[in-house]
Parts: sequence; C-alpha cells; structure tokens
Amino acid sequence: MGKQEQQEEGEEYLFKIVVIGDSAVGKSNLLSRFARDEFDLHSKATVGVEFQTQVLEVEGKEVKAQVWDTAGQERFRAVTSAYYRGAVGALLVYDITRRTTFDSIKRWLDELNTHCDTTVARILVGNKCDLENIREVSAEEGKSLAAEEGLFFIETSALDSTNVNAAFEIVIRQIYNNVSRKVL
Ligand code: GDP
Ligand code: MG
Repeated sequence: MGKQEQQEEGEEYLFKIVVIGDSAVGKSNLLSRFARDEFDLHSKATVGVEFQTQVLEVEGKEVKAQVWDTAGQERFRAVTSAYYRGAVGALLVYDITRRTTFDSIKRWLDELNTHCDTTVARILVGNKCDLENIREVSAEEGKSLAAEEGLFFIETSALDSTNVNAAFEIVIRQIYNNVSRKVL
C-alpha cells in the first residue's frame, strides 16, 4: 500500500492554529497548559519553541492540533507572515486585567485578516480570569466585541486551568466542521 493510501485510511487531520495577542497576556502559558498541563509563573518570552502538537479525537477522528506560539515576536511588532501561513484557526488573546490588551484586539484581527482568509476559525480569549479583583474588562465587553466581529468568546485562566481546553476545543471543532463541509 502506498504512503498516500495509508494516510487516507488513517483519516488523520493536522490543523495549524496560531495564538496571537499583546505581550504578557498569557499566550505561552495557555499553550503549555493545553499541550503539557504546565504553568510557569515567571515565564519569559522564550525564543525558539515554535509550536506544540496535541492529539485529540473529534467525532471519532484523530486530529493533530499544531499550535504556534509567537515566542516573543509580538514585542517587536514583527510577527512574520510565515507565522500565519497555512493557519486554519486562531486564538486572539487579551488580559482581562489590562484594557490596553483588549483595545489591541482589533489590530490583531486586522493583521490576521491581512494574512489569512475569513474561513479561519477564531475565538476571542479573555485570559487571567482568576484575577477578578483587578479586572479592567468586563465579560460583557468581551462578549459584545466577539459578537460584533463574528468570533467565539471565552474567558480563561492559564493559572488555574479554567476553560483552557475548552478554548482550544471550540476552535478545533469549528475547523473540523469547516473541513468536513469542504470534503462533502
Ligand atoms: P505571553 O507573553 O502572552 O506569552 O504571556 P506569558 O504566557 O509569558 O505570561 C505572561 C505573564 O502572565 C507570566 O508572568 C504568567 O505567569 C502570567 N499569566 C499567564 N496566564 C495567566 C493567568 O491565567 N492568570 C494569572 N494570574 N497570570 C497569568
Ligand atoms: Mg510568550
């Protein structure tokens, strides 16, 4: 049996997902929580780790989520087009305790739209919801921005694991739906 045939039989899916948003909103920690169930209180913008792969099952099919981390590129406003190339899903992350990071979401959306087409599955993620006492952006504001821009919405905490898997799973499920519609 040829390699091609074997791949078709296995019905494997590989989805590239990008995580974007301002510096220090918790992108890397969301990713490590999702991929390795780890959290780093003093995480630095590690350069080098480009992506992590997590295998999930969606409707009985094996799906590999290849989740990319900006690895600090965003600090220099220099996220390259290679980062976005081939992406089929995106998490747009802000920090609920810093309004400036929420205000930046439109710019990140513009950038995503410059590099990717509109079929890319997107979710707006308000991270650090464990820090309720210093919240600057209400859940309602997040919800209404998401509705305005046609995004899914969720609040997460990479620190205590709240909704982290859910955020990725919503995107992956949406991508899967997009793909299976195309196949039909
Ligand atoms: P990135 O620059 O967007 O990749 O952000 P990091 O993942 O490096 O996180 C930046 C800082 O925020 C680090 O000190 C993390 O420990 C902290 N952090 C990330 N996620 C959370 C969270 O959900 N809750 C709290 N309280 N802190 C977080
Ligand atoms: Mg980072």
